[in-house]
Amino acid sequence: MSAEVISLGCRLNLSESEDIRAMLGGSSDLVVVNSCAVTLEAVRQTRQAIRKARRAHPDARLLVTGCAAEIERDQLAAMPEVDGLIANSAKLDPRAWNVPARPAPVASLHTRAFIAVQNGCDHACTFCVIPQGRGPSRSLTVDRVCGEVAQHCERGAAEVVLTGVDVTSWGQDLPGRPALGILVQEILDRFPTLQRLRMSSLDGIEIDPLLFELFASERRLMPHLHLSLQHGHDLILKRMKRRHLRGDAVALVERLRAHRPDLAVGADLIAGFPTESEEHHAANLSIIRELGIVHGHVFPYSPRPGTPAALMPQLSRPLIKQRAAELRDAVAKARGAWLATLVGKPASVLAERDGTGYTPGFARVALPAGTRAGSIIDIIPTSIKDGLLT
Ligand code: SF4
Repeated sequence: MSAEVISLGCRLNLSESEDIRAMLGGSSDLVVVNSCAVTLEAVRQTRQAIRKARRAHPDARLLVTGCAAEIERDQLAAMPEVDGLIANSAKLDPRAWNVPARPAPVASLHTRAFIAVQNGCDHACTFCVIPQGRGPSRSLTVDRVCGEVAQHCERGAAEVVLTGVDVTSWGQDLPGRPALGILVQEILDRFPTLQRLRMSSLDGIEIDPLLFELFASERRLMPHLHLSLQHGHDLILKRMKRRHLRGDAVALVERLRAHRPDLAVGADLIAGFPTESEEHHAANLSIIRELGIVHGHVFPYSPRPGTPAALMPQLSRPLIKQRAAELRDAVAKARGAWLATLVGKPASVLAERDGTGYTPGFARVALPAGTRAGSIIDIIPTSIKDGLLT
């Protein structure tokens, strides 16, 4: 039996948990919680997962890593259920776990493979603790990334998703400071049979000209732009210490849509940031319509100790929750309208294991029974049911 690895939080944590699982191999007496600390709720869920794991494995060695092991170190170390903490920056180092170094973990079989090309962050947004949890930005080299792409493709992945904490800062710590577009171009050149390359969340203002060009013209780069937008009002964006303004996001999407009318836009949005007025909230709602945001990750603001935003005048929880619900409703409306435009139009769909699949724009589709997972099939959706094209 292999070590049990429990993963919380982002896609980056998920892909790191895969690597930890492969690295620990048959360490059957070991239970690992790869934690998250992006919100207070995430920390609460981390503690809950630790208690649950201890109940399920009363005699195992229980170790905690991940962002909460950095940011809530003392709290977690004090929990009787916890035998030890592993630094987030050391979690992929076999020495930190006292296990023998093994050959690089073999990529497990997924229809879509997530590759973390970058970790950490050099920015200091006023609401965020991730730089404390994950340290400064650092990038995998082009060869390391392509090595992982090769492994996943050999194992049948039909789509590769490039992920990280602040993906657009990839390369800034490498010789010659290559921009992200260089990496994407290299992957597309080296893997001509890779049909689908997708980007996870991007900082719109940091998209370099080559990456823009590839988004505009390269069919194998999925027409799915997920922006780390955070808000729709300039004053709040300034108080968040973001590097873009509303107009920058609007201009970027307009320019890209001119080349790629099928572009699907997603965004991370925070509801109820400190000092947010009704007018600011209205701007947050209206940017969903203006950009046509159909994939929305809405986060109710939660104060994180040690961040500048936690010292600003806070809104009430009920108001924050209400505004988050309004943002989600607005995204759901935009999404419904978008799905309706896809009915009757041919689409290629990557089949997943659960009988559904995804279009290039990341619309979910219910597929005929027996569709082989990992295959890409052409369909013409005829209707929409429960938010899925059918
Ligand atoms: S860019 Fe800002 S929000 Fe994103 S991880 Fe860095 S500090 Fe946090």
